[in-house]
Amino acid sequence: MSHYDIAIIGLGPAGSTLARLLSPKFRVAALDKKIFGAESSGFRKPCGGLISGDAQKALASFDMTLPKDVLVDPQIFAVKTIDLKNKLIRHYQRFYINLDRHKFDLWLESIIPPAVEIHAGAVCVSIQKTSGGFRVTYIENGERRTLTTKYIIGADGANSIVRRTFYPQKKIRNYLSIQQWFPETHPNPFYSCIFDPENTDCCSWSISKDQQFIFGGAFPVQGARARFERQKKKLERIGFRFGKPLKTEACLVLRPSSFRDFCCGESGVFLIGEAAGFISPSSLEGISSAIYSARDLATVLNSGRGSLNRRYFAKTRHIRVKLFLKILKCPFMYQPFLRKLVMKSGICAIKINSLEN
Ligand SMILES: Cc1cc2nc3c(=O)[nH]c(=O)nc-3n(C[C@H](O)[C@H](O)[C@H](O)COP(=O)(O)OP(=O)(O)OC[C@H]3O[C@@H](n4cnc5c(N)ncnc54)[C@H](O)[C@@H]3O)c2cc1C
Repeated sequence: MSHYDIAIIGLGPAGSTLARLLSPKFRVAALDKKIFGAESSGFRKPCGGLISGDAQKALASFDMTLPKDVLVDPQIFAVKTIDLKNKLIRHYQRFYINLDRHKFDLWLESIIPPAVEIHAGAVCVSIQKTSGGFRVTYIENGERRTLTTKYIIGADGANSIVRRTFYPQKKIRNYLSIQQWFPETHPNPFYSCIFDPENTDCCSWSISKDQQFIFGGAFPVQGARARFERQKKKLERIGFRFGKPLKTEACLVLRPSSFRDFCCGESGVFLIGEAAGFISPSSLEGISSAIYSARDLATVLNSGRGSLNRRYFAKTRHIRVKLFLKILKCPFMYQPFLRKLVMKSGICAIKINSLEN
């Protein structure tokens, strides 16, 4: 059985960023159920694949640039915000980069230094605390294997096994996120954000990507699929074109609702990215916080000084404060009366000029 200083579970934006930034002095193993290098097979993270201004800033802080093959067509400058309850539509300027999320993950993984031992297609199935650290059991190539490690990093997203194992009581409000992909048949590609309290107290979205149209939403887990289908019917009435889905994907998405929801870990367990609850409750944007929390943990682990868990907790205060402010913003987006006032006021909205006007 191999022993490591650090075992990272999950190589999404959080885990890959951490693996890239850790000092070569550590012996690091990184496990992910995705099969890297194989673009068409294996697990793919369901995601809108929009890189927000915050995430662009996080990448810029490493002086990183995106390769063009992760981008998709078209790039979009405004979100069409649809309030189905108040029957309002407004357009707001956005500065997202529209990309292929799977290719983005593969690219982040491709720039991890070779010193990190990557186990692709490996699913972590259990973690036990031992006297010197942790024992990790995982399935790789159909075989059950184990490794031991001094520190364990949960970078395994919304349904984190690391978080569930060590903090079963720390449950965060969660939703089932369902996305369907269709051939794009709208005359003009667009990006939309939909509020439909009859079917969900969270939001839904649509995005055009390389001649495909993605429609997705975050729904209460109970009856999620029926709510999704009901919402599609309502949207068809206002011009959405769905047709026969090319694929349907689903996963949990977290939506923190209080400051106490965030969980950074303790006693050698560290949580980063969405596993820590670091995702915006207003927009479900999570890539920026995944990158920032990974950067903060790498800084703490590389320095090796003091209580590492306490220092990581302190260092990620800026993320918790940012996300807490988003919790405060939520009523203005999700409370129908306040949303109506905001949308009716036209504050920050863009007037879309069409030739018919
Ligand atoms: C439908 C949807 C749309 C979204 N759209 C956007 C968007 O447009 N922009 C944005 O910024 N955010 C978006 N988000 C949020 C964003 O996807 C996440 O917050 C972000 O990916 C979190 O990064 P992460 O690295 O923490 O976790 P993840 O990206 O979830 O990565 C976790 C990794 O862990 C691996 N893993 C999980 N369990 C195991 C296991 N047991 N063993 C081995 N490996 C494991 C997975 O394969 C995965 O690679 C969206 C979320 C959803 C659900």
